[in-house]
Amino acid sequence: MQVNDLLEPSVRIRELKKDRVNFVLENVDLGFANSLRRVVMADIPTVAIDMVEFDTNTTVLPDEFIAHRLGMIPLVSTNCDEAIRYSRDCTCLESCQNCSIELVLNVACNENRTMDITSNHLDVVPRGGYGWREEVDDGEEIAKRSENFGHPVGNNDPSVPPILICKIRKGQQLRVRCIAKKGIAKEHAKWSPCSAVSFEYDPHNRLRHTTYWYEADIKKEWPLSANAEEEETPRDDEPFDYNGKPQKFYFEVETDGSLGPQEVVMKGLTELQTKLANLILGLKTDPNDLDTLGGDGSGQLPTANGTVAPPTGRTTTGWGQETSPGGAGWGNSPNTGGGGGWGASTTGGGSAWGGNSGSGASPSAGGWGANAAPGAWVAGGGGWGTGSPARNTGWSSPNPQTQTGWNV
Ligand SMILES: [Zn+2]
Repeated sequence: MQVNDLLEPSVRIRELKKDRVNFVLENVDLGFANSLRRVVMADIPTVAIDMVEFDTNTTVLPDEFIAHRLGMIPLVSTNCDEAIRYSRDCTCLESCQNCSIELVLNVACNENRTMDITSNHLDVVPRGGYGWREEVDDGEEIAKRSENFGHPVGNNDPSVPPILICKIRKGQQLRVRCIAKKGIAKEHAKWSPCSAVSFEYDPHNRLRHTTYWYEADIKKEWPLSANAEEEETPRDDEPFDYNGKPQKFYFEVETDGSLGPQEVVMKGLTELQTKLANLILGLKTDPNDLDTLGGDGSGQLPTANGTVAPPTGRTTTGWGQETSPGGAGWGNSPNTGGGGGWGASTTGGGSAWGGNSGSGASPSAGGWGANAAPGAWVAGGGGWGTGSPARNTGWSSPNPQTQTGWNV
């Protein structure tokens, strides 16, 4: 089960439908497969309703309840990268046709019956229609939109049941104006193009990554998944392979219809590539040569922990590396002082949450992390900071054999 470095990564699609794809990804490592899963779930832009103005609401549901439901309705977001701007990148003050889609819903019940308000009642307002308050020229995005861009998924398609928003009786009415915007699911789950993304690997559990709980017979109580047919069944007396690595991943990606499964996976790979390219650029670029960076114009490079690099001297209150005494950062402070940081402090007392190996180290120092002195809170590891690797404190590369703490 060893990864053969000579083999190229490969993808074999087992099933492709309108809203789901099942494929086998081979010859990559577990970290890559998981990165793809996470990027697909959290980093692909779509459009979703982000603001709702209530004109009339005499239904039994309060405004915020309905606003939340409207936000969760998937909208067609094909080619979202090019077809719409983020509002933060737009020149308008609040919303315009280049960065927003406007939808209206106006339903009243005048008969003596219960009436369903569904996603089919949501209508996209054409450009320049009701409600657009700002005069902004069309951007190049407009031409790249498909005809049904921003419409609720499955709208007026008889084969797709509409999404129920609310039920009303005679005399009740709901009239709202919605502004849909572009976003990603890291900000709010309504922007996720996927309803489920999962992968399985090592269905026979040769690598012992899974510990099964069972009463009498493990094989009866934990039947094999269908993916087990793709791999050789291990013999009962087969010795454990200490060098084994997972290399075959059975992916299942299910979308909510805002994007097709193919677009989701391809965009996911592109996004992953972009993230890695930015990381490489960040590591290669000289921090003193800020003009080459571009980006958001902040002119500061992220450090490994995601905070901006300290300009000079005593530093930041971020998660980054602390290079001088006494900071309040979460990072590593190699010098004296200790301060009130969450990171590791190699000397002195302080109330750091990380590892503390210096003279002030004692349980009363108040640290959450490891303490080298006898009687410390945690023996041999478990800090949040980045301490001495030998004692295994910190967030970075813990030694799994002695690690007892919060390391991730
Ligand atoms: Zn705009």
